[in-house]
Amino acid sequence: MAAALTNSFSLLRCSCVIGSLAATKRPLPPLSFSLFRAPPVSIQSKRCTRLISASIDEEASARAAAASVDSGGPTIFDKIIAKEIPSTIVYEDEKVLAFRDINPQAPVHVVLIPKLRDGLTQLGKAEPRHSVILGHLLYTAKVVAEKEGILDGFRVVINNGPGGCQSVYHLHLHILGGRQMKWPPG
Ligand code: AMP
Repeated sequence: MAAALTNSFSLLRCSCVIGSLAATKRPLPPLSFSLFRAPPVSIQSKRCTRLISASIDEEASARAAAASVDSGGPTIFDKIIAKEIPSTIVYEDEKVLAFRDINPQAPVHVVLIPKLRDGLTQLGKAEPRHSVILGHLLYTAKVVAEKEGILDGFRVVINNGPGGCQSVYHLHLHILGGRQMKWPPG
């Protein structure tokens, strides 16, 4: 696996180098040119960056998804709610808690959770009785976005289950902003 990853990195790097050589407008060696048929440099360089980061993300996501299952047991978020471990809380009321993600994916990345899990390990476990807390979470996402100054452009994400790359089985909303979001999200 590591070898395969290294190999794909080398190949990608290789084509990036060719792209950057072309950027200098120096003629490419004939063999490299016929192997890669490099498109105009700016396109090729952008594609390299995207392919390399996609490889890393897919590896990490696959590992995380395989390691994460919904056991129904306590999670790290219980410790955050109980204030047994530190977190940077940005909003709190009697029903929900919002804190900064430890591994932010955007300049603003807040995790919003219900204090009482009540079976909501994931959105896929929602039942009619959960509609009030689900509505409150969504409204609070807007309140947090406003407090964080990202109301003009933000994203709310709920990862559900291994296929959705969920890693903590206590329902939570990711509130992301402070940069231009892209679509599709991957
Ligand atoms: P998910 O992968 O959708 O289940 O999201 C779980 C999120 O919780 C990830 O973005 C983690 O970075 C975040 N997280 C895990 N532990 C902590 C922690 N101690 N403090 C803040 N965020 C955390």
